[in-house]
Amino acid sequence: MSIVTSEPVPRKGILDIAAYVPGKEHAPGVAKVYKLSSNETPLGPSPSAIEAFKQAAEKLEIYPDGQAVALREAIATAYGLNAANIMCGNGSDELLGLLCHVYLGAGDEAIITQHGFLVYKIQIMGAGATAIEVAERDCTVDVDAILAAVTDKTKLVFIANPGNPTGTYVPVAEIRRLHAGLPKNVVLVLDAAYAEYVRKNDYEAGIELVSSNKNVVMCRTFSKVYGLAALRVGWMYAPAGILDALNRVRGPFNMNSAAIAAGAAAVRDQAFVDKAVEYNLLWQDKLVHAFTALGLKVTPSVTNFLLVHFPDVDGKRAPEADEFLTSRGYILRMVKGYGFPNALRMTIGPEEANRGVIEALGEFMTR
Ligand SMILES: *Cc1c(COP(=O)(O)O)cnc(C)c1O
Repeated sequence: MSIVTSEPVPRKGILDIAAYVPGKEHAPGVAKVYKLSSNETPLGPSPSAIEAFKQAAEKLEIYPDGQAVALREAIATAYGLNAANIMCGNGSDELLGLLCHVYLGAGDEAIITQHGFLVYKIQIMGAGATAIEVAERDCTVDVDAILAAVTDKTKLVFIANPGNPTGTYVPVAEIRRLHAGLPKNVVLVLDAAYAEYVRKNDYEAGIELVSSNKNVVMCRTFSKVYGLAALRVGWMYAPAGILDALNRVRGPFNMNSAAIAAGAAAVRDQAFVDKAVEYNLLWQDKLVHAFTALGLKVTPSVTNFLLVHFPDVDGKRAPEADEFLTSRGYILRMVKGYGFPNALRMTIGPEEANRGVIEALGEFMTR
């Protein structure tokens, strides 16, 4: 028997979801504002990507290629992959959502970690499943905690490697140990949105694990180092069986033509990526030194952002620092929702913004 209600009622669990809140972008009354809240690159995209985007405007009446072949082939060439194992999405957000849609239902569980990316939980709950959150250790994903949380209801495990907002990473040996401990029917999702920024010998984004297993996928994005956040370009490297399932529910034209063209041009310009990574490493180092000298703690980061911890002292905590920085036009990210009530996440920005934040925090700490 169906019960008639006075208005439409969403499926059970949907209204328990806390909607994602994007990083702030305004500082009321401040003339010059630097948005350092969403891990966008200060260098923009490759000029060739902008040119490709403009050319896409000439053919707006034509449907995009539903297979995004040009983009998948360009990615495959740049990263040494098989194009048949690549799926593109409207941002990696879409791909994370498709994985939940396909592998989760009521009664299922998916594992996320204490300071994990909030999109995972939203998509898990959206699919009607339960998100099981496990502790991290020193702001880093803890493989043993994940393995201990696996039950016969577990269908997906999400880890961001490197993590956001922590900026830390898990070495490839640990990722292999995690995979080895998971049942074969559990999909391990390696979200490597910041992989290009990492310069560590013991880090791997997950390509080899995907190639040699049926239950591992790697998600990547063009929103960060490639500077195409506005266009929403994400991609996933995955085994054939998983792609086959996802392709059955994927929107047939989920990638627009401008995103395909600009993404393909961007990924061909690896010299641009190298420059962006070099710039990032330089400022990562300078900012960590400057903040540490001010008495702030910074979680060691391999990414284009820093998690800065404030003293537990009246007038010096993160919300006050956020207010102070915002009044100067520097918009960082409050990360209370990620389990860090007394920290701010700062995206490494243009030089003048980085210098400005150092100066403003110097004032804040000594005022
Ligand atoms: C920025 C980010 C993404 C990228 O999302 P898009 O939808 O591709 O813009 C994915 N995962 C994490 C952890 C991120 O920080």
